[in-house]
Amino acid sequence: MNAVELAERFGARNYHPLPVTLVRGEGAFVWDDAGTRYLDMLSAYSAVNQGHLHPRIVAAAKSQLDRITLTSRAFHNDQLGAFLERLATLSGFSRVLPMNTGAEAVETALKAARKWAHVVKGVPVDQAEILVAEGNFHGRTTTIVSFSTEEQYRFGFGPFTPGFGVVPYGDIAALEAAITPRTAAVLLEPIQGEGGVIVPPPGYLARVRELCTKHRVLLILDEIQTGLCRTGRTWAFEHEGIRPDAICVGKALGGGLYPVSAFCADDELMGVFAPGDHGSTFGGNPLGAAIGLAALDVLVDERLAERAAENGAWLMDRLRSLRTPVEVRGRGLLIGVQLPGAARPVCEALMARGILAKDTHGTVVRFAPPLVVDRAALEQAMTVIAEVMP
Ligand SMILES: *Cc1c(COP(=O)(O)O)cnc(C)c1O
Repeated sequence: MNAVELAERFGARNYHPLPVTLVRGEGAFVWDDAGTRYLDMLSAYSAVNQGHLHPRIVAAAKSQLDRITLTSRAFHNDQLGAFLERLATLSGFSRVLPMNTGAEAVETALKAARKWAHVVKGVPVDQAEILVAEGNFHGRTTTIVSFSTEEQYRFGFGPFTPGFGVVPYGDIAALEAAITPRTAAVLLEPIQGEGGVIVPPPGYLARVRELCTKHRVLLILDEIQTGLCRTGRTWAFEHEGIRPDAICVGKALGGGLYPVSAFCADDELMGVFAPGDHGSTFGGNPLGAAIGLAALDVLVDERLAERAAENGAWLMDRLRSLRTPVEVRGRGLLIGVQLPGAARPVCEALMARGILAKDTHGTVVRFAPPLVVDRAALEQAMTVIAEVMP
């Protein structure tokens, strides 16, 4: 059996990959087992913003691999501090709690918000409610799918965790109506990624910020997909000139090498955690910290936010000139092309012509190449895209 047959024979069937076997990556490109090159326009769902095998991140990982990789948080390690400081500075929050996957960062946010509601806001213990948006995607744990509105993500996985309320995304009146004295937090994606690249109406996040402040509710933004320069700013919330009370970060925080995530907040909120309240065996390990620090340095030093803004504006403009798409949505290099019909055949046709993209929500093709992609590669891709969906 070849690699694919082995995976199909011995793996669970929880994914349906496009029929291509990738064996190598460099920058914005990947190669399959026959040596064919593809432009990666998915970037592992924005986990490879810095490009595949970024030399500086690889070097940081290799040098750490020769020293020490895992200590647990039972002891200090010499890498974690610098990583936490860098992310605190870049996010503007005073404290950072490191985890591994995005879902764990979101779980951390939920626990922090609930405990804050009781200890600081005075909501009766275990009575706090968290408001989320229709069409959200925050991960796959049983608690997180408890407040998903996607039937497939939930079916058969109950009983679910209580304590969540769902409001339409982008509807400020509905949000205000849903806030009660028990509301601890509003948890939102600044742009809904998995939901089909849904950009909320202009001013929405600013109004949410006002509402949250008025009602003493935390505004927690899930920047796992939108953060780290993807939308043309370091954080997507910057587009609306607001500051949330906390953010979840993941995906590109690991530079495409390793799972690194974090929950960032200020003292009052992060202060709800005391030793033993929460943790992770691998969270904050020296290998992940060294990689995370290099991943952040690359984003800043290579001006990847500016590049995402420039190339994203160009690409979106070109995509909007096509006749096939019903709508082109997005910001920076997080772009969703809404098609009139099924997106998977389009992705298969793009693949056959050297472009890897993934359908989301059946009729949307997401274009989110590594932010290091250059204009020439995008121009070539645009020629192919225009042939596949004129
Ligand atoms: C991918 C994603 C997550 C979950 O991250 P994992 O690392 O897969 O657990 C959470 N929130 C958003 C917005 C995401 O895009």
